[in-house]
Amino acid sequence: MLRIALLSPKGPLYRHRGGIFRKSLRYAPLTLPTLAALIPDEIEHDLSLFDEGIEDIPEDLDVDLIGITVITGTAKRSYELARHFRDRGIAVVMGGPHITLVPDDAAAHADTLVVGYAEDTWPELLRDFVAGQMRERYTQAPDLSLANRPRARRDLIPGGKHVKTGVFEATRGCNHRCDFCVVPFAWGRKPYQKPVAEVIDEIRSTGARRAIFIDLNLIADKEYAAELFTALMPLRIQWGGLATSLLARDEELLDLCARSGCMALLVGFESISPAALKDVSKGFNSPELYAEWIRRFHDHGIALNGTFVFGLDSDTTDVFAETAQFVIDTRIDLPRFAILTPFPGTGLHERLEKENRILTKNWELYDGQHVVFQPTNMSVAELEQGNMKAWRQVYSYSSIARRMRSTPISKALYLGANLGYRFYGRRLDKFYTCDWQMVQSESTPLRRQEIL
Ligand code: SF4
Repeated sequence: MLRIALLSPKGPLYRHRGGIFRKSLRYAPLTLPTLAALIPDEIEHDLSLFDEGIEDIPEDLDVDLIGITVITGTAKRSYELARHFRDRGIAVVMGGPHITLVPDDAAAHADTLVVGYAEDTWPELLRDFVAGQMRERYTQAPDLSLANRPRARRDLIPGGKHVKTGVFEATRGCNHRCDFCVVPFAWGRKPYQKPVAEVIDEIRSTGARRAIFIDLNLIADKEYAAELFTALMPLRIQWGGLATSLLARDEELLDLCARSGCMALLVGFESISPAALKDVSKGFNSPELYAEWIRRFHDHGIALNGTFVFGLDSDTTDVFAETAQFVIDTRIDLPRFAILTPFPGTGLHERLEKENRILTKNWELYDGQHVVFQPTNMSVAELEQGNMKAWRQVYSYSSIARRMRSTPISKALYLGANLGYRFYGRRLDKFYTCDWQMVQSESTPLRRQEIL
């Protein structure tokens, strides 16, 4: 009997945190249940799953093999856990976005690595492990198919810890190449798709009335998106997901999307400056049209979780107030701000490294809320504080009330989400309590030499 434990470590911010990370806004994650489903039938096994966002990982796990899924922000914690378990003679496998982006960074911390999607490589690795011939690295071949894959083992997700909304995945990847985004650099620009009929069957089988699609860009392939939206209509569910602003340009697809039950979308607007967007290869976003696009989404009954990033090379210290005011004027339902983060393996990281502007490679700080590079037109402290100010401005009670006037969703839902974000946005400094914060508060403006 092979004893396997699958771990999803969390960085300090997300480890058992309250506020908006309580059950009210936590969706059931699919990564570990998907890996669980991929374990070959012929391998007799005993399996346990641990998501550190909701529970501690036991230090005395008595298993043969541990699989850890790693994003950059959790790499430090993952390496820590791997050392702990390897010291006890347990073999450790690592996979996930960080491993796929920079496998060499992780090589010393694991017995083997899974690079790329795990659909074919994880079962192969397990068979090799049982046969006593596990290799050091398993890399996904380019011809991956998502058809006829076993469904994620939702039965293994602990009850009562997440919202009841069903979590689904129809596609993977994105056809764009934004310089700061891990998606094209980790997995290439070819979107992978599950057959629409399989997606619909899976939703039906769960009986979900509300769904979240975790796909990074649901409209990467518009033909597929149209087919999916059309097939969703008879289900009469309400759903949310992620798409680019390009959806607003395509009236027909937007209409299909709305009629399929879409009630909210996360859209990465990133910046209100065309020059800044061009700098990071996201020129397909057109800030001069944002107001019109936002209106179109609202007119179709779709609320927006609009995301913006601060610290782009063209940004000056005016960007925070200007962006916050723009968000309030255009009535974005649920705005979110992040600090530009040069994730290792991305084009942005490579460029900043060449320009000698990477301030730290402590991956724990690569979480979208710490400044880990030297900005061009402001100090590190100005960027960090400007981000906090923008959060406060858009989540003041008056701006919540002003934005609420145009929301297409119920006032109760709008207020619940906005008050959750307000709670978080007003406590950014308390959420980030690592040494980095102390270094920053003690040295303003922070200079590179002070922390290297
Ligand atoms: S459109 Fe979104 S998902 Fe696609 S590469 Fe750009 S940031 Fe990433």
